[in-house]
Amino acid sequence: MKLHCLGTAGYHPSEARHTACFFLQEPGIAFDAGSSLFRLHGLIATESISVLLSHTHLDHVMGLTFFWDLLGGNTPLERIHIYAQREKIEAIREHLFHPSLFPVIPPFEWHVLEDLGPRFELGGAKCTWFPLEHPGGAVGYRLDFPGVSVAYVTDTTCEEDSEYWRNLQGVDWLVHECNFTDQEKKMARHTGHSWPTEVVAQAAKHGVERLILTHFNPMVSHPDPVGLREVLQKRRLENTPEQAPRLIELARDNMAFELI
Ligand SMILES: [Zn+2]
Ligand SMILES: [Zn+2]
Repeated sequence: MKLHCLGTAGYHPSEARHTACFFLQEPGIAFDAGSSLFRLHGLIATESISVLLSHTHLDHVMGLTFFWDLLGGNTPLERIHIYAQREKIEAIREHLFHPSLFPVIPPFEWHVLEDLGPRFELGGAKCTWFPLEHPGGAVGYRLDFPGVSVAYVTDTTCEEDSEYWRNLQGVDWLVHECNFTDQEKKMARHTGHSWPTEVVAQAAKHGVERLILTHFNPMVSHPDPVGLREVLQKRRLENTPEQAPRLIELARDNMAFELI
C-alpha cells in the first residue's frame, strides 16, 4: 500500500511545496485537501475516494474546490466522500462554497464524524479519530489495516502531556506536523503548531515505528527546514537513539512510501 505525500507545506504554497494532502492510493483515502490536491490526477485508481479532513483552515481545504476537474478528467472517480466534524462541514458549505466564493459545489457525500462515533470502518481499515490541540480545533486519524497502521496528525501543538498521543501507541507509520524549529517554540505554541525535539521524543516514547514530518514553513527552502539533523545528533549524544523510531523522514512533495 503506497502513501503519496502530495503537499508538505503549511499556510501557503511555495515553489517547492504545496499545502496539505496525503493519499493512500489503493483504498482511495486522502488526508486533507490542500492546494496539492490537484496532484490526485493520475493517481486515483478507484471509483470512489474518501477525504478525511483534519480541520478547515484554508491550507487544508482549498483543494476541495478542485474536484470538478477530477470528476470530469481521465480518472475512474464517480463518488467523493468527505469526513469531518459537524461544525467543520457546516463551515465548508456555508463559507468555502458560498456562491460569492465558488460557483457550484461538487457532488460531495458528507459524513459527520460525531455521528459515526470515535471508531468506524473505512476502506478495509478501522478508523479512529481524536482531538488535537489547535486554535479552532482539529482532529487526527489513525487507520488500522490488517497488517499495517498509519496515522495522520496535523495541525497541533505537541507537548509532553498531550492527550492525543495515547491514540498513536505503537503505530507503524505516523505523519506528524512540524511547522517550526526548536528555536521557534514560542511561536509554535502561539499558533498551535509543533517543533522537532518534542515530536521525536513523543514518537519514541509511544513506540512509533516510522515518523514522517510535514507541514513545513513554505518560506524556508532549506532541505532540512526544521533543523532535524541537529535534533537527532543531540539525541545521539545524550545516548537516546535506541528509543528513536527506526525511520524519521522529512516529507517532500511527490515523495511516496511503500507502507506494506
Ligand atoms: Zn495548516
Ligand atoms: Zn490550522
